Amino acid sequence: MSFDADVVVVGGGLAGISAAITATREGLSVIVLERGDYSGSKNVAGGRMYIHALKDLVDISDAPLERKVEREIYEVYCGNGRKISFSYEDKNRVDSYTVLRAKFDQWFAKKAEEEGVLFSYSTLVSNARREKGGITLETNRGEVRAPLVIEADGVTAGISRYLGLRNLKPSMLMLGVKEVIGTAWDEGVARTIIGFEGLKGGGFVYSNRDTLSIGLTVKVDSLQGSEVKAQDIVEKFREMIGIEGPILEYSAHLIPYYGYANLPQLNAENLIVTGDAAGFLINDGFTIRGMDLAIESGKVAGKAAKLIKDENYADTSIYVKMLEESFVMRDMKKAWKSFSLLGEKRIFSDYPKVLCEVLGDMFLVNGERRTLREELMEKIKEENLNLTQMVLDLVRFIG
Ligand SMILES: Cc1cc2nc3c(=O)[nH]c(=O)nc-3n(C[C@H](O)[C@H](O)[C@H](O)COP(=O)(O)OP(=O)(O)OC[C@H]3O[C@@H](n4cnc5c(N)ncnc54)[C@H](O)[C@@H]3O)c2cc1C
Repeated sequence: MSFDADVVVVGGGLAGISAAITATREGLSVIVLERGDYSGSKNVAGGRMYIHALKDLVDISDAPLERKVEREIYEVYCGNGRKISFSYEDKNRVDSYTVLRAKFDQWFAKKAEEEGVLFSYSTLVSNARREKGGITLETNRGEVRAPLVIEADGVTAGISRYLGLRNLKPSMLMLGVKEVIGTAWDEGVARTIIGFEGLKGGGFVYSNRDTLSIGLTVKVDSLQGSEVKAQDIVEKFREMIGIEGPILEYSAHLIPYYGYANLPQLNAENLIVTGDAAGFLINDGFTIRGMDLAIESGKVAGKAAKLIKDENYADTSIYVKMLEESFVMRDMKKAWKSFSLLGEKRIFSDYPKVLCEVLGDMFLVNGERRTLREELMEKIKEENLNLTQMVLDLVRFIG
């Protein structure tokens, strides 16, 4: 059987571009198949990128980064317009920037093209089958064959599904909704919001150069039976947090929710899986990270591809071994306990309510002074909460 390249990468997002650059540098011939007209046209992110993986891969001096994040705002909403808020500023920290994916991914793909990567845009892979020492991909432009496919097609992981390696279930998914608002702030802010309509998940506001990116990531199964409809959540959220301005863009996208202990199959014969397709996402209540994990896992895949080729494509398990040694798996493992709390509704409704009421009552002076412990025990009783469960949740949260 003749092959079209040493490696075919399915998906020209962050994971795919990173894998393609690295594999090309390793001397392999690489083709990227991307269904969009250009990289970035189909991609959604809230918009805060931790840049450590990116700057190890390419020169970022001309990257279209929006603003350096200098201020963190963390807010827990407790109902009735009440909230607990924390703000922290550090102008010297340079770990993350806000980005807009349509611009960013185009720039990243151009970097890859400059290094010799071949992109085939408007190319949708609609099926995959394993045959004669490789994988044949069916696309709207004909069949493409490779001895190794790097799957970087995002959360719905089409290739793994076509090859019968995975079934998607709602419990493995979060819904992300996002708006770009035509309002500008004059500093780089990341605002994280917990406690919206009791939904399992959180919200964000990131300031770009001339706009704000706002949105929510919510567990799909918590929307089932909720009073808030998916199409209304971002509007209600915007009202709750008091952001105003013209809506310039709206997008919705799924996000993987696996966590370290439930990761899907990351390799198979002639296949390795990266980025969102591999379930690499961390949402630990403070940070939402998928972009740096996508870039790093792509990088590891590109390097592994060379070793796999050297062994005549006989075994792809080296990729998983290399991942285990990377920050992708180390951070996924560390975040696992707090990440798994996202599945518990009490974290997003009962606990914020108790916390706000206890703290609120501490400001009351009426001649009946009580200790913090008395206040806490009373509210726990009122809300029918289980103290042991709360302590166990705290232990899980701190990791
Ligand atoms: C609302 C929201 C907010 C988020 N906020 C953040 C954040 O602030 N910070 C952060 O780090 N992460 C965030 N994430 C997560 C982050 O966006 C993802 O983890 C990241 O985009 C994963 O990159 P990827 O390359 O694996 O997948 P994607 O970016 O989804 O790229 C997959 C590519 O594959 C292509 N493709 C798919 N199927 C096919 C096919 N059959 N044929 C050909 N091409 C195909 C797609 O067009 C796409 O270009 C957020 C996600 C959402 C939805």
